[in-house]
Amino acid sequence: MGIAVSPIQIDSRVSDFISKPRKMLIDGKWMDAASGKTFPTYNPATGEVLAQVAEGDRQDIDAAVQAARKAFDSGPWSQMTPSDRGKLIWKLADLMEQHLEEFATIETLDNGKPLTVARAADVPLAIDMFRYMAGWATKLEGTTIPISMPHAANSSYFAYTLREPVGVVGQIIPWNFPLLMAAWKLAPALACGCTVVLKPAEQTPLSALFLGELFVEAGFPNGVVNIVPGFGETAGAALAAHELVDKIAFTGSTEVGKLIVNAATGNLKKVSLELGGKSPNVVFKDADLNGAISGSASAIFFNQGQTCCAGSRLFVERSVFDQVIEGVAAKAKKINVGSGLEPKTAMGPLVSEEQLQRVCNYLEIGLSEGATAVTGGKKMGDSKGYFVEPTVLVNTKDDMRVVQEEIFGPVVTAVPFDDPEELMARANSTIYGLAAGIWTKDISKAHRLAASLRAGTVWINCYNVFDAALPFGGYKQSGWGREMGKDVLQLYTQTKAVCTRL
Ligand code: ADP
Repeated sequence: MGIAVSPIQIDSRVSDFISKPRKMLIDGKWMDAASGKTFPTYNPATGEVLAQVAEGDRQDIDAAVQAARKAFDSGPWSQMTPSDRGKLIWKLADLMEQHLEEFATIETLDNGKPLTVARAADVPLAIDMFRYMAGWATKLEGTTIPISMPHAANSSYFAYTLREPVGVVGQIIPWNFPLLMAAWKLAPALACGCTVVLKPAEQTPLSALFLGELFVEAGFPNGVVNIVPGFGETAGAALAAHELVDKIAFTGSTEVGKLIVNAATGNLKKVSLELGGKSPNVVFKDADLNGAISGSASAIFFNQGQTCCAGSRLFVERSVFDQVIEGVAAKAKKINVGSGLEPKTAMGPLVSEEQLQRVCNYLEIGLSEGATAVTGGKKMGDSKGYFVEPTVLVNTKDDMRVVQEEIFGPVVTAVPFDDPEELMARANSTIYGLAAGIWTKDISKAHRLAASLRAGTVWINCYNVFDAALPFGGYKQSGWGREMGKDVLQLYTQTKAVCTRL
């Protein structure tokens, strides 16, 4: 028998998992926080406490970093062949697949997202990321390099490069795709032979801790993966600043990204960042308008708008503006908003009370600055859950805060455009450059525009398409480095040049 979260019955394996205070994984053992403290994580659909979790702080981070250091410097991990490392990562993916349903339920309970989405997207994508990266473990190659040495013409040399793991990696992840973000970070780091201290977001630590159990079950050597839940200002800051960490990988807000960069200066650890966005999504009059309308609605409303690459600024060619806005607003009105556990739910609650306040605050600012809500515009109903109405704002100006700042909620601002040149300048006119969308049947126009957009990803006649093989990351203040694909291997390896006089 599982617990009843009205009116849905939760799998007993999940209810067992959340009914006990969850510990942190350090050096292969499940530990309480050194301070003995725990913190609650909430079910965003009800506002009720879901589970208690050990609250990691500086001391726990230090213990985890020491364990990761030992595992990297002298543990079995560094002696393991690339093939065995790859097999272990693949084994983890198999175990995840066996527990897909539990992962999906934990993700829905902790984050709020629809179970149907967690089941179809978050968990399978996370599994696929581990499998994709397992294959790379055996393919990290250096090169041989013919060198000339003009000032020593009579000597000859043999030179080559080695790709070596960067070392101990600290990884700090957000709450919007908790398991998937853990996979984006852990999989390449492990494939490259690094050891890791992962700090999940305080709002959603449970799926990473469940994953930790599978790391132990798969047989990863102690200290290779350490998982320390806790708050950003304490555990996160301690990890970013730790002198024995060689690299920090962060996904979260641009504001915190800058703090991470500052914290990393002590030992000049390497830094990679995947930060905020305010992505333009452009619909031309020659697009398949039905496809563009559905795609533009999903570009912003997917995951409750809590997606760093959400298509949050909609630009529509003037002659079809009314038609597209009506279409997107009609889609918004039809979205079934509710508990993620309900099979019919297409949009769940926001992740936290704080996030609800933040989004509602932006809605008030936008409306007070003169924007109009075609649909939505406020908190939804009087439930204790953190629900907000899917919202389409028009009559916005490009310099309004709701157009410039990342809201991270189901709120799109929509404006008409006339001239493609002027459009380009407007589309590029935020501090961000994470993603962009283009809807048109004119493929030459689409590719010209794709080349001019300052964004790390451009989707043409689609949106929010992610694949383990496709690099993702930001231009401008949306980040440093690319995750996924082979690009990410650069973030977790360094090149050693070896030169021999013959
Ligand atoms: P949000 O504001 O949407 O919660 P954040 O960027 O604050 O996003 O959080 C993303 C991750 O960064 C979380 O794991 C959080 O705990 C962590 N974090 C927040 N502040 C800091 C900090 N000062 N140093 C290190 N990590 C932090």
